[in-house]
Amino acid sequence: MKEMKLKLYNTQKRKKELFVPNHPDKVGLYSCGPTTYDFLHVGNARALVVGDLINRVLKEFGYNVTFVRNFTDVDDKIIKRANERGIGAVEHAQEFINECLKDMEELEMIPATHTPKVSEHMQDIIDLVQSLIAKGHAYETEGEVFFHVPSFEGYGKLSKKDLDSLEHGIRVEVDQRKKHPSDFVLWKPSKEGEPAWDSPWGKGRPGWHIECSAMSKHYLGDTLDIHHGGVDLIFPHHENEIAQSEAANSCSYCNCWVHNEFLNFGTEKMSKSLGNVVTIRSFIEKFSGMILRNILLSAHYRSRLEWSDEVVKKAMQDVERIHQFVKDIKAADIRSEEADEKTLAQIQDAYDKFRYELSNDINTSGAMAQFFSFLRDVRRDLLKENTLPSNTMIPIMDMIQLVQRTLGLIHDDPEQVLNRLQEIKKEMALEKGSLLPEEVEKLLEERKEARATKDWTTADKIRDTFQEKGIEVKDNPDGTTTWFYR
Ligand code: AMP
Ligand code: ZN
Repeated sequence: MKEMKLKLYNTQKRKKELFVPNHPDKVGLYSCGPTTYDFLHVGNARALVVGDLINRVLKEFGYNVTFVRNFTDVDDKIIKRANERGIGAVEHAQEFINECLKDMEELEMIPATHTPKVSEHMQDIIDLVQSLIAKGHAYETEGEVFFHVPSFEGYGKLSKKDLDSLEHGIRVEVDQRKKHPSDFVLWKPSKEGEPAWDSPWGKGRPGWHIECSAMSKHYLGDTLDIHHGGVDLIFPHHENEIAQSEAANSCSYCNCWVHNEFLNFGTEKMSKSLGNVVTIRSFIEKFSGMILRNILLSAHYRSRLEWSDEVVKKAMQDVERIHQFVKDIKAADIRSEEADEKTLAQIQDAYDKFRYELSNDINTSGAMAQFFSFLRDVRRDLLKENTLPSNTMIPIMDMIQLVQRTLGLIHDDPEQVLNRLQEIKKEMALEKGSLLPEEVEKLLEERKEARATKDWTTADKIRDTFQEKGIEVKDNPDGTTTWFYR
């Protein structure tokens, strides 16, 4: 196999570059996880699946990955919801962490190495804030601690914003307690009804940005190999993480910043505040996690992805094509004929091209295009009457396993996926007024009788009804008939 090196687009440098970890084989990967105040939406799922994808691809390229994805369980929105229900904020968040874990499993995500929660890392957060105060990068007023932005020289290096333009951009009323309008909160006193932790500055809770600096340091040390999140986090969240971590640790915080683009609804970002969300749970219940995963990986992670009925339909077709293929390959027998060297080289070439696309800034759409072209070639040239040339079975299975390992787009049991697809199509067809299974069976009976008595008018009418109602009928060579919802 050809040696292939992974290239990633580094947001900080605004270019694709060869990925070089701090230690030869080990990689520390941190991904900003969700705030669990409610069920997550399919936009959040894009960030989750891209984090999972980076983890899988790093493993494919031989790295031993420590993957950390946090849960934000201390936050204004969580507190508001918890108070409405009359329960503790951390308890409320935990319920939705559990729901999120169920969604992640349905999305075929492999578990992260660590999934820390903010509420369990208060001491790390307090230690980091104290160290920032000691070094003159943060100050306390009335139980509130701020990071002093002008004290950190490199501020703006990720988002390419400079302090002057930021100052002009800030239109909110000047906060008298801040030394500079860009200064941001590290720790704040808790109000009545808010969760509170003891600290040197009184009972309070952390600001948002400090949690990721503290938790990434705890699990991965002072310098991360890769930090991932959605593009909306570049500023201010990631910019502030850099400021906090570099000011405290006196070394570079992260070597490579990876950001996924949005999942949009029309021209707008899908988000709870805009009210245009489809929750992961509702989608999975109607369709499936595999279909959602397929949608999310159909576009390159740095391209915007537009949510639409067409995108869902296309993913359903792709999932069906992939799993029908895997089912046929698994069911195939070996025939005595052997494929020639050229054919074997073509299979190897498809394998290498798929990996090349992944090595090229994780181009999932390019990789899937390679897989579909491989699938077409195998069907056309090798799969004959449910048999394969004896020496092709192993390399074809290797390719299938590669797709499964890196993209997670192939289920172990293809039959189960295909059955689920039939169920989904049935429900969709019935919603549009199609025929119930017993009605189809009855018409098939009538068609059989009509054909037997050469009543072609009736037989044609039934065929037209099937056509109109989206029912596909296949008359098999052995005389049996099978039918599907299209
Ligand atoms: P939040 O819970 O809003 O902090 O978001 C959790 C993660 O989901 C972050 O990495 C966000 O960037 C990401 N995210 C939120 N909405 C979208 C969206 N519509 N498309 C892609 N990523 C999103
Ligand atoms: Zn974060």
